[in-house]
Amino acid sequence: MAQEDLFKKLVAHCKEYGYVFQSSEIYDGLGAVYDYGQYGVELKNNIKKYWWDSMVLLHENVVGLDSAIFMHPTIWKASGHVDAFNDPLIDNKDSKKRYRADVLIEEKLGKIEEKINKEITKAKKRFGDSFDEKQFRETNPRVLANQKKWDELHTRFAKALNDGDLNELRQIIVDQEIVCPISGSRNWTDVRQFNLMFSTEMGSTADGAQKIFLRPETAQGIFVNYLNVQKTGRMKLPFGIAQIGKAFRNEIVARQFIFRMREFEQMEMQFFVKPGTELDWFEKWKETRMKWHRALGFGDENYRFHEHEKLAHYANAAVDVEYKFPFGFKEVEGIHSRTDFDLSQHEKYSGKKIRYFDPEINDSYVPFVVETSIGVDRMFLQVLSASYCEEQLEKDSRVVLKIPPMLAPVKMAVMPLTKKDGMPEKAREIIDNLKFDFNCQYDEKDSIGKRYRRQDAIGTPYCVTVDHQTLEDNTVTIRHRDSMEQERVAISELGRIIGEQVNFKALFAKI
Ligand code: ATP
Repeated sequence: MAQEDLFKKLVAHCKEYGYVFQSSEIYDGLGAVYDYGQYGVELKNNIKKYWWDSMVLLHENVVGLDSAIFMHPTIWKASGHVDAFNDPLIDNKDSKKRYRADVLIEEKLGKIEEKINKEITKAKKRFGDSFDEKQFRETNPRVLANQKKWDELHTRFAKALNDGDLNELRQIIVDQEIVCPISGSRNWTDVRQFNLMFSTEMGSTADGAQKIFLRPETAQGIFVNYLNVQKTGRMKLPFGIAQIGKAFRNEIVARQFIFRMREFEQMEMQFFVKPGTELDWFEKWKETRMKWHRALGFGDENYRFHEHEKLAHYANAAVDVEYKFPFGFKEVEGIHSRTDFDLSQHEKYSGKKIRYFDPEINDSYVPFVVETSIGVDRMFLQVLSASYCEEQLEKDSRVVLKIPPMLAPVKMAVMPLTKKDGMPEKAREIIDNLKFDFNCQYDEKDSIGKRYRRQDAIGTPYCVTVDHQTLEDNTVTIRHRDSMEQERVAISELGRIIGEQVNFKALFAKI
């Protein structure tokens, strides 16, 4: 199936099965804002738990925080967001559609890369086991020509971004003959900067209302609480503060479903370290975070690191973890070495000392920071993209979400074969015994086959059927979602068998 079709189907599936709804749908929706349905919220909570526990339980020097969304407006002046949290936008005069200039150029780079990859895939097939990719890349004329194009464009793009040269960004779009996908024309406006922060007012006008911002990242709430946590927790460097919370960005182009939203959720961890050690910690966290992603088993080849073309104003190293979505490799998480920029700026703007007294050198300094920042919603999309399968079976077909059992919204569905002979009561009894261990669902409507399909579609890893034999010997069948195999087990064993599979421990062992 074409990847685009797959993505469309996935979006439709999310709505049909209670994962994600368009916000304010009965009023025709609100651009790039989404609501999570009954299964979506469970999956989201499980993703957050996987992240939170992997930070706060696995690392004794990482603690949590929950700071407010509203913060003093000077925080955003100090952090640089008021002046520099911009994206370059460009409009197509014919379609009147708006684009991010940097994204248009990144997509062009992606297309050249695709051409190179196609040549390599073709050659791999032709040469089989004897294929030497390195040699092929160095000698094949078509690959070499495309690589040269990519290198030249990439260098020019990175320079334009770093110089903040908006005219040059536009010129690149013109020179590369990039067309608007809607109108097909190259009739572009100038490139302008656009600030992504939402603002609102606090207090009544009579009192002199104050303009405040909806936070575009949760990180600043951590920085301004650095001293509170360090002192009250008696934390010693290096240590980290983790936080999960909403963030808001007035994105210029908000397409691709929950990949780019105007209201979204972030899971961020700021790790405070001794100056000079930050790049070692950057490498360590890079590795740890990649293991966290790969532990889910979606295929190591579907992840890669992407170095930034332009470092943010606060960073001395930055890398993205990218996942291969149906629409290509895209960022899921950013890992940044933020230097002492934020804490120093808050010192300057607040007039308060934000230091760490280091007993080893008997002196105090502003700590450096390594940040890991991942979007809950993008992670959600990663899990669903990796899990969505359409399978042709002998007689019919099925749509199944092969979500890792630890993350699946419902872990076990219990189904009485018929609605009589005490089977429903037995099924309820099984649920009552296990409902505080993991999420269980009772399902008695329609044939067993239909019930299996329904549970497949929401990704339930285990279906337990209560039948006549159950009433005689207290055994049930467990049907495994992915293999569709069934086995007969004692009811008393269910908690252990399923409990082991849905526990996060197995994932943590891989990190
Ligand atoms: P992009 O380049 O895609 O706009 P970014 O580099 O601005 O993303 P960061 O500021 O590094 O993103 O934010 C950290 C993480 O927050 C991202 O890796 C992503 O998972 C998530 N995120 C950022 N913006 C959005 C958004 N508009 N919708 C959903 N998630 C987002």
